[in-house]
Amino acid sequence: MNAPLRADPFFPFDNTFARLPERFFARLPPTSVPAPRLIRLNHSLVRQLGLDPDALASQEGLEILAGNRLPVGAEPLAMVYAGHQFGSWVPQLGDGRAILLGEVIGRNSVRYDIQLKGAGRTPFSRMGDGRAVLGPVLREYVVSEAMAAFGIPTTRAAAAVTTGEQIMRERLLPGAVLTRVAQSHVRVGTFQFFAARGDVEALRILADHVIARHYPAIADTERPYRALYDAVIARQADLVARWLHIGFIHGVMNTDNMSIVGETIDYGPCAFMDTYHPETVYSSIDHMGRYAYGNQPRIAHWNLSCLGQALLPLLDKDGEAAVREAQEAIGLFPSLFDDAWLRGLRHKLGFLGEQEGDLALAQGLLNLMAENHADFTLTFRRLCDVAGAAGAGPEVDGPIRSLFDNPANFDGWAAGWRRRLSAKPRGEEERRAAMRAVNPAFIPRNHLVEEAINAALDGDLNPFDNLLAVLTAPYEDQPAFARYADPPRQDQVVRQTFCGT
Ligand code: AMP
Ligand code: MG
Repeated sequence: MNAPLRADPFFPFDNTFARLPERFFARLPPTSVPAPRLIRLNHSLVRQLGLDPDALASQEGLEILAGNRLPVGAEPLAMVYAGHQFGSWVPQLGDGRAILLGEVIGRNSVRYDIQLKGAGRTPFSRMGDGRAVLGPVLREYVVSEAMAAFGIPTTRAAAAVTTGEQIMRERLLPGAVLTRVAQSHVRVGTFQFFAARGDVEALRILADHVIARHYPAIADTERPYRALYDAVIARQADLVARWLHIGFIHGVMNTDNMSIVGETIDYGPCAFMDTYHPETVYSSIDHMGRYAYGNQPRIAHWNLSCLGQALLPLLDKDGEAAVREAQEAIGLFPSLFDDAWLRGLRHKLGFLGEQEGDLALAQGLLNLMAENHADFTLTFRRLCDVAGAAGAGPEVDGPIRSLFDNPANFDGWAAGWRRRLSAKPRGEEERRAAMRAVNPAFIPRNHLVEEAINAALDGDLNPFDNLLAVLTAPYEDQPAFARYADPPRQDQVVRQTFCGT
C-alpha cells in the first residue's frame, strides 16, 4: 500500500507548501481504496500541466489518482485552516477529506497544486468519513470545467475515479476521488487560523509564501502586506462580479471557501440560475438566504474584512494604525465591485464606452427580468441576435420578448437600449460577435447536471460526457446540442442543491 513508484513519468513535483513549518499541515498519505476505475481524465488540462495523459490513464496512473500509490516526489499533506461558516467562527477546520500531493509547474510557468479530494480521513476530518461520492465529484468536475471555459478563475478538475467502495450518505453511494488542480489551496481561513492563535510568526510566513508564489510583483513594494490585502480584495471583487455576470451562485461562501488567489473554490451546493431573481437560493442548508445570488458581493465584502482582521498584526506594529490601513483597503471593495460589475454588464449589453445612463439601463433590464420570470442566460443570449436591428421593434424581437411574462414590458426597455447602442455606433457583426463572446448559450443548468449524475449512477456516462463536451465551448452555438440551451420544463426544475458531504 502506498508504495512509492521508482520510475516516475507522472508528476515532476516541485513542492513549496510542504517546506513551510509543520504546524501548517498534517503529513499523511491518502487511504487506499479497493477497486479504482477511471471515470474521466481531463487530457487537455493534464497536457497544460506538462503531464502525460497516457501515463495517467494507465493502471499505475489510475492507482495514483485513486490514492493507492504515491508518485515519487509527492509529499502528501492535509492543510489546516479555520473559518467562518454561515457567519459562525470555527477555530479549526482543515482538509478533512483532501490530500495535497504536491505542486507542479505548468507549461504556462504557473505553479499548480495537485490535490486528491475524497482521499480518506485526516486529523481534520472531525465527524466525517474523509470520502466523497460520485455525484458531487461529477458535479464539481463539470461545473469547475464550465467556469474555466467561461474564462472565470477557478480550480480545475484533472480526473475523476470511482473507488469501488460504497459510502453512506442519504443512502449507499459509490465512492469517488476528484483530482483537483488549483493555483493555491490557501484560503482566507488559513490566515484566520493563525491570527486567532496569535501566531504572528506563522501569519508572516504564510503571507510571504503567498506573495512569493502568487503576487511576486508586490514582494519589493514598501508595504507588501498592505499590497497583498489590496490585491486579494481586487481579485475577489472581480471574481464575484464575474459570477453575477454568468448567473452563478456559489452557495457556501464561508471564509474557508474563499481562495487567496481569487479562484472559485469548493463546488458544493453551487448552482446556475435559470429564471432571474436576485434572491435565488438553491442550497438546502442556506435557510436564511445568506448566500443568495444577489447577496454574494456583500458576503465577499464581509469575508474580506475577516481577512483584514487577520492581517492586522502585519499591517502595522501600532494597533490603531493597522486598523486604519485595513479600513482604507476594504473601504474600496464596494466601488471595485460596482465598477467590475457595470463594466461586465456593458459588455453583455453591447455598449461601447461609458455613458451616464448605463447603470440605469442595466438595472432596468434586470428588474424587468425578475418581474417577468425571464431566463437569465437566454435573455442575454437572445439580446445578441437583435442588437443590430436599429429601430427594430416587436416584429424582430419575438424570440426575446417571449421570455418575458408580459412581452410588452421588454419593448419599452428595448427602445432605450437601442438609443444607447446607436449613440456609439459599431458594425453590426462586430457587436454581435462581441456580445456573443460574453453571453453564453450554454451553462451547466441544474437539471442537466442532475440528469448527467443520475445516468452516471446507473452506469451510463454518456450524458456526463455530452454535457462536458457542450460546455467546453459555451459561447458557440452548437445546433446538435440545442436542447442543452433550453431552460428546464416545469417538471425538470431543480429547486435544491446539496453539499453532498
Ligand atoms: P466543505 O463544505 O466541503 O468545505 O467542508 C467543510 C469542512 O468539513 C472542511 O473542514 C472539510 O474538510 C470537512 N468535511 C466535509 N466533508 C467531509 C467528509 N466527508 N469527511 C471529512 N471531513 C469533511
Ligand atoms: Mg470547503
